[in-house]
Amino acid sequence: MNESAAIWSPPLAEAPERHLCTDCGVSRSSSPKDCAAACQFIQPDYPALEARVHGRVRDAARGDEAFFGPYRAMYRARLKAPAEGAQWTGITTRIAQKLLEAGAVDAVLTMAPDAADKWRPVPVIITRAEGMAAVRGMRMGYAPLLALLEPARAAGHKRLAIIGIPCQVYALRALEAKLGFERLYVIGTPCSDNTTTANFHHFLSLLSDKPESVTYLEFLADYHVELRFEDGSRRKIPFLKLPISDLPPDFFPMTCRTCVDYTNSLADITVGYMAGQGQQWLLIRNARGQELLELLGDEVALAAPGSAGKRANAVKGFMENTRLAAGGLPLRRMPNFLRGIMGWVMPRFGPRGLEFARARVEMKAVETILHLRRAEPARMKHMVPRHVWALAEKYGLVAEAGEQK
Ligand SMILES: Cc1cc2nc3c(=O)[nH]c(=O)nc-3n(C[C@H](O)[C@H](O)[C@H](O)COP(=O)(O)OP(=O)(O)OC[C@H]3O[C@@H](n4cnc5c(N)ncnc54)[C@H](O)[C@@H]3O)c2cc1C
Ligand code: SF4
Ligand code: SF4
Repeated sequence: MNESAAIWSPPLAEAPERHLCTDCGVSRSSSPKDCAAACQFIQPDYPALEARVHGRVRDAARGDEAFFGPYRAMYRARLKAPAEGAQWTGITTRIAQKLLEAGAVDAVLTMAPDAADKWRPVPVIITRAEGMAAVRGMRMGYAPLLALLEPARAAGHKRLAIIGIPCQVYALRALEAKLGFERLYVIGTPCSDNTTTANFHHFLSLLSDKPESVTYLEFLADYHVELRFEDGSRRKIPFLKLPISDLPPDFFPMTCRTCVDYTNSLADITVGYMAGQGQQWLLIRNARGQELLELLGDEVALAAPGSAGKRANAVKGFMENTRLAAGGLPLRRMPNFLRGIMGWVMPRFGPRGLEFARARVEMKAVETILHLRRAEPARMKHMVPRHVWALAEKYGLVAEAGEQK
């Protein structure tokens, strides 16, 4: 792949050693010291960046902003003609494709599958609309997306779209003014429970005796994991039957256990599925996000997201499990026959739609605090934003001395 191809993967510098780092790419740039100001895991300032990017900070009195960050509209959504190979229906890659087709951007920065390992993300620069099809779908792991910024600029690209996960988008926004691109569109996806690609291969080997034949995996909002295989077959496994207790305690890196921005609140548009009840879930966060949605025209079907069930007990149960696990993965001591019954009950009576998304965001807040308190107490004061404390306080989890600025 070279600079003139539709997809280009430039050679990148080695990453220096960093503690609590998802290798977003800043440390590989010509200015690795920028990590100090740009890193989500050092001293994030969400209010300042929300005000700069969206024109205002999140407002807890406004809809669900306490959970999901600033937004001006929220939808349950799907492409009427789902794109082949997409993780859901392909809204994310279709928006970027439209930007390239319209000539609104010179390039899109995102992740392609590695040629030798389809689950490994490789950062790529895409300059022609036809290149977007190759990057559809989800890879597991993280890779240095922002290390593409300097090669993109050197290639003369001034107007960019970036598809990123929250820890990448935080650093991008922190550096945006300094980067000086003429135009920047940020398409974000939510992200949680990510791990290294190597760890993910181990997980697949516990789920299937032919892990190499798995082509797709997703944690659905109906409390099941869906697997798809090369022969076209599909399998759904209830969350409660996942072999979580067979995974090593450090399966999820500390970064991904303590990440504070599940819903990618600094993107222009967030494209997820959590409140979609089987469809996609869009958060339009600012005027640029609205512009991105409008590119889809009548290719997209939109509806108001639904909400049902009550989340409080699910979040409390999760908090207790996380405490009991003391740094390992939440314990699963339920007998097998009960797990089957719960696997049936949860999608029908557990929190659904927006209530499911609120539950997941609160669980993440609780998890962040408990893990940092145990493993990185000195980081808490700077790393945990006030809005994360506010979510956990409802469950009796409050800041102790020295944990808050
Ligand atoms: C590790 C991970 C965890 C996620 N967890 C959640 C979750 O808990 N809740 C939720 O609602 N949504 C989550 N998502 C987002 C969700 O899986 C879908 O990607 C999203 O809803 C978009 O679907 P789509 O059909 O529009 O995407 P597509 O059109 O198929 O495009 C997917 C885009 O994501 C990019 N991508 C794929 N893998 C990675 C990666 N590892 N790192 C960065 N970019 C990548 C691709 O390059 C592509 O541009 C997660 C995504 C990732 C990568
Ligand atoms: S995640 Fe990014 S900003 Fe943070 S230390 Fe790693 S490379 Fe630097
Ligand atoms: S869970 Fe958080 S820290 Fe981990 S890769 Fe996703 S956004 Fe980054």
